[in-house]
Amino acid sequence: MSAGPGSRAWMERAARVIPGGVSSPVRAFKSVGGTPLVYRRGDGAFLEDVDGRRYVDFVCSWGPLILGHAHADVRQAIVAAVERGTTFGAPGETEIELAEHMTAAYPGLEQVRFVSSGTEAVMSAIRVARGFTGRDKIVKFSGCYHGHADHLLVAAGSGLVTFGHPSSAGVPDAFARETVVLPLDDEGRLIDLLRREGDRIAAVIIEPVPANNGLLLQRPEFLTTLRDETHRAGALLIFDEVISGFRVARGGAAERYGITPDLATFGKIIGGGLPVGAFGGRRDVMQRLAPVGPVYQAGTLSGNAVAMAAGLTTLRLLDTLKAWTTLESLGSALESALQPVLAQAPYPAQVARVGSLFWIYLEGGAMPRAAEQVNATAGTRYGPVFHALLEQGIALAPSAYEVGFLSLAHDRTHVAQLASALAAALTSSPLPPA
Ligand SMILES: *Cc1c(COP(=O)(O)O)cnc(C)c1O
Repeated sequence: MSAGPGSRAWMERAARVIPGGVSSPVRAFKSVGGTPLVYRRGDGAFLEDVDGRRYVDFVCSWGPLILGHAHADVRQAIVAAVERGTTFGAPGETEIELAEHMTAAYPGLEQVRFVSSGTEAVMSAIRVARGFTGRDKIVKFSGCYHGHADHLLVAAGSGLVTFGHPSSAGVPDAFARETVVLPLDDEGRLIDLLRREGDRIAAVIIEPVPANNGLLLQRPEFLTTLRDETHRAGALLIFDEVISGFRVARGGAAERYGITPDLATFGKIIGGGLPVGAFGGRRDVMQRLAPVGPVYQAGTLSGNAVAMAAGLTTLRLLDTLKAWTTLESLGSALESALQPVLAQAPYPAQVARVGSLFWIYLEGGAMPRAAEQVNATAGTRYGPVFHALLEQGIALAPSAYEVGFLSLAHDRTHVAQLASALAAALTSSPLPPA
């Protein structure tokens, strides 16, 4: 198997003291089988495991590392910040500069508040939306992930029942009932719900580039309808840009699609590899937050000096390097390199891509735009391919439904390595039973 003796020994120790041996479930290799690799260092486009093996890393810590591992400028900014003190528990210069940078970059982002994770950003955005509208219900789309707050760990109800049910143990039914789950890519269902129950809906939240259940690229018309219908219903539109913010464009999916949400949530890239989240949007909505307004929200380490320095340095460097042009051409090279390889696979296989995000889908038919269209066969085919890639020094996500990430540390050599390793993996890996 892929994990060396060092990784296996560490994971045995880990499993004794950490549930499943991991601090976040998808790291556990449950869906691909085998033992997780334990890494000791990251460097540019590479990761090195505790057995001294090197991998071209297409996970990039699940998105934050848009500059690659341990970028020199980010490292220096972090060290300089640490030398000035790690946290003040009071306003800091870098936090204000990062807020200015973000509000200048993102459409309609008039004010922003910092938190420490994407989950917290979404949780707080939902609360302020409820406080602003005086309504309780929220709407999400199946296949979109918004972190692990109670009211978002909700799956679609059956049939005509419009309220959801918990998708995790520990989430009260009563919470889940405040969340309505709709399918992506379906204007009919959306219009029907918003015209019928719109006056009870505080907000509709969506990943405008859904990237947590494969890459379910939406038709622009669907997002436009969503903007129009939320506006008409007086419900707020929340774009969850925790993955897509500062990745698919400087102004995220909002810029890319030319649609301005009322609120947006951020995470991943804006922390430059440290724990940061943020939410923001319309001034009149954000002014409902304490200490100005009645909606309570707070955080001991929010706006942390070190994290803000890493984030600000990352975002400024993306501008200086004209990152989005480079990432688009690298992404396009990756797509052209993978397509002929996937066409030669022993089963139908394809790739979806936007900018530096890509998803290898080991199934035929139209590329899915909704979670319900994703065929489970792709999941069973993925495990052997994943392990065959790992053995050749290529790290993709240990799940068929997670996307791949390119960073500015990647170049065409790494893309070519992925393509040739994938060609070998697809022919060598045993076919699962038909
Ligand atoms: C990662 C992610 C989150 C959760 O962020 P955490 O920092 O892991 O809490 C929320 N929404 C989206 C779209 C994400 O990709």
